[in-house]
Amino acid sequence: DKYVYAFGNGKAEGDAGMRALLGGKGAGLAEMSALGLPVPPGFTITTQVCTMFNRHGGQYPSGLEADVAKSLATVEKLTGARFGNANRPLLVSVRSGARASMPGMMDTVLNLGLNDQTVRGLATQSGDPRFAYDSYRRFIQMFGDVVMGVDHHHFEDILDHHKKINGLSLDTELSAHDWQDVVCEYKLKIHEQTGRDFPQDPRMQLWDAISAVFRSWSNARAVTYRRLNNISHDWGTAVNVQAMVFGNMGDDSATGVAFTRDPATGENALYGEYLVNAQGEDVVAGIRTPQQLTVAGKLAHRSKLPAMEEVMPEVFQELNAVRHNLEKHYGDMQDIEFTVQRGKLYMLQTRVGKRTASAALKIACDMVDEGVINEDQAVMRVDPGSLNQLLHPTLDPKAERQIIARGLPASPGAASGQIVFSADEAERLAHAGQKAILCRAETSPEDIHGMHAAAGIVTTRGGMTSHAAVVARGMGRPCVAGASEISIDYKANTMSVRGLVLNEGDLVTLDGGSGEVMSGHVPTIDPELSGDFTRLMRWADSKRKLGVLVNADTPEDCRKALEFGAEGIGLCRTEHMFFEAGRIVAVREMILANSETGRRKALKKVLPMQRDDFAEIFRIMRGLPVTIRLLDPPLHEFLPHGEAEMHEVADAAGVSVEFVRERVIKVREVNPMLGHRGCRLGITYPEVYEMQTRAILEAAATVAKEADVEIEVEIMIPFVAVESELRIVKEHVDQTAKEALAGEHKVHYVVGTMIELPRAALNAGKIARQAHFFSFGTNDLTQTTFGLSRDDAGSFLPTYENRGIFDKDPFVHLDVEGVGELMQIAVERGRKTRPDLKLCLCGEHGGDAESVNFCHEIGLDCVSCSPYRVPIARLAAAQAAL
Ligand code: ADP
Ligand code: MG
Ligand code: MG
Repeated sequence: DKYVYAFGNGKAEGDAGMRALLGGKGAGLAEMSALGLPVPPGFTITTQVCTMFNRHGGQYPSGLEADVAKSLATVEKLTGARFGNANRPLLVSVRSGARASMPGMMDTVLNLGLNDQTVRGLATQSGDPRFAYDSYRRFIQMFGDVVMGVDHHHFEDILDHHKKINGLSLDTELSAHDWQDVVCEYKLKIHEQTGRDFPQDPRMQLWDAISAVFRSWSNARAVTYRRLNNISHDWGTAVNVQAMVFGNMGDDSATGVAFTRDPATGENALYGEYLVNAQGEDVVAGIRTPQQLTVAGKLAHRSKLPAMEEVMPEVFQELNAVRHNLEKHYGDMQDIEFTVQRGKLYMLQTRVGKRTASAALKIACDMVDEGVINEDQAVMRVDPGSLNQLLHPTLDPKAERQIIARGLPASPGAASGQIVFSADEAERLAHAGQKAILCRAETSPEDIHGMHAAAGIVTTRGGMTSHAAVVARGMGRPCVAGASEISIDYKANTMSVRGLVLNEGDLVTLDGGSGEVMSGHVPTIDPELSGDFTRLMRWADSKRKLGVLVNADTPEDCRKALEFGAEGIGLCRTEHMFFEAGRIVAVREMILANSETGRRKALKKVLPMQRDDFAEIFRIMRGLPVTIRLLDPPLHEFLPHGEAEMHEVADAAGVSVEFVRERVIKVREVNPMLGHRGCRLGITYPEVYEMQTRAILEAAATVAKEADVEIEVEIMIPFVAVESELRIVKEHVDQTAKEALAGEHKVHYVVGTMIELPRAALNAGKIARQAHFFSFGTNDLTQTTFGLSRDDAGSFLPTYENRGIFDKDPFVHLDVEGVGELMQIAVERGRKTRPDLKLCLCGEHGGDAESVNFCHEIGLDCVSCSPYRVPIARLAAAQAAL
């Protein structure tokens, strides 16, 4: 096996297709190098070595050492420097890089190869002792932290102390002597903390650093990050060893990060930040305020510092050329890292850039127009789940807002909630069903769980590429970064801004699109969908095979769904109509009656109301197919609560309160979920389904006449387990329909069933004799397959997920292995009986991209989901088909 892949000097042994083996960073460095871009030479040790290393207790495969020595010699030849040489020392970075990007989760060491001798060589050779000792202290600090386990705060304390007693405020103000002092103290601190000397042998430094990076794959935060992002623990990280270039060599040197397009809006322009006379992570760490790359960026951020475009115009032009080159080559927006060493540009990283949903849409459409990608690729580019960000409300511009602070618009969207100052507290509130706004000076990878749980994030330090900003955009959380007027007191759990003090739990609202932080709750309005959204969705619709319907039972939901592109109603639940004020009394009267006559008397009151509701829905849907489910929930759920409600029912029915009380006790159930519900109601109280059938078909007839349209109605029977249940109910529906539709030709109806019990799935072949269609009710089917109540799962589901017993919540992502197999059985057996059987899914899973993909794969005809998720389902269905 080949363990080491070299890159540099316009060549590379690897390429962009080798992410699995070289990691994203290694593959990107190889690809950029082969493209002829200015990449410092180096080599990548493969992820395979990481896996072997971690499996075999820190042992390396034989031959690796020789390969590394050989590759290092090549780097020496290309740079003209020698590793460990006291006059012209070669310095390298040792960088982690896994297959999937795991920002900040694993470790990197810069300036490796420095020791008490080589630092002098570097000083002489560069003619800049300040630079040399600055690099040395950076190296000791990173090596001390990453390899020797000395926490970084020790080093920060030393540096802060040194600055304070010498009256210095910026790192750049420290002289060579200052840095020499700091270096001494760092070394003492390392000895004090570890009992070991800082290693002076560069080869030992190198192998220690390589091992530390491989080990960092298994550190706690990396493991958590992988769990949250569904990244396999088996992939491993690669190690990249690369010749150093220096952004800290004075005012003609710099380091920066950029996106090839604006990651918030998608605008086609270089977008990013840089710092003069700085190295590596300084930009992201928020130590100094970074400068913008472009003049436009400078104006947009009201930055007082000059832009790179003004300060280093030639380098800027070169960077812009690299941007075009990379986009053309990769066909996608890139996120890049670069360093300028004494006026010369070097590229250090490229990867596909994270972006907001609206940026993703704009970039996909623009790139089709630019001829960079085709429509299919554009459809694949947008994450269906991210559309959520666009469909949800934004702050009402007319609403009154009391702005308390401004920061950078780091990730768009509006959020209101209670302020909290720790990730754990954010998580706690979220578990309690409340909204938290996480406020931190800055965030670090340890805060990921809280950022995930929070409704929005505010930081007081850091720029648009700070950890908080990048992670928030990736998660789709609204974020205001660098709101520097706010100061947080973690001890007192308060934050203050210009005299105003806010306590933990106080309400604030933030607008991640404008960078504003407001006190209290600010009302929101519906978003307007862009032209790019419409275009992309049109392409998606032309690719998908699955129909997309909506779960809706109110006029508002129906209208919203049509706006979002639903092709009909896949599930209209009639029980919501039963609960409405004004009719619940009649419904209770019906349930509590002890005879058919009593029930019919009450149902007569409900009939016209239901008919009106259905008519309204048919009017809005204008001839699109509508599937209506007959009454499903247990009678138990409609029972009156308390004395007052019992009196009300008694009065309406003309019976005594005693009678009502007795009936309530009779009807009450121990386990209503598995009780007197669904078709069991239709069989024991046929007059209920008869009333509903009549209301549906009469309403359809009225609207068909009124609007002169043909109306297709699907009457759906819930909770069927046995064929004869459906046969009995269907006979009654057909008979009622004959009367209700006498002489009516524009209304067509069929009868079908939900498949939501394992027995129904297994018996689908028989059930299909009675059913024109099946709709998989995957909420109940998941509950009944697992024997797990959705309402009670909250107390142990998190433990199950953490322990890896469930790899994901089966109520969110369809359980393909169990529930999915039952569905496949039902599809196969159902179609065997009735080849034209129509198959749909109408659980919550209909709006989840990976579940939609499964529905496509097993050959369903359609999915049905809540209105806001209709666009997600349309896009997911298209991606499944491509
Ligand atoms: P991360 O994956 O956390 O971004 P990187 O390996 O990219 O870590 O390195 C951290 C920082 O150090 C980045 O800003 C990168 O540009 C910089 N860096 C890495 N290697 C070199 C190098 N050879 N010369 C100069 N800077 C480097
Ligand atoms: Mg990086
Ligand atoms: Mg159900």
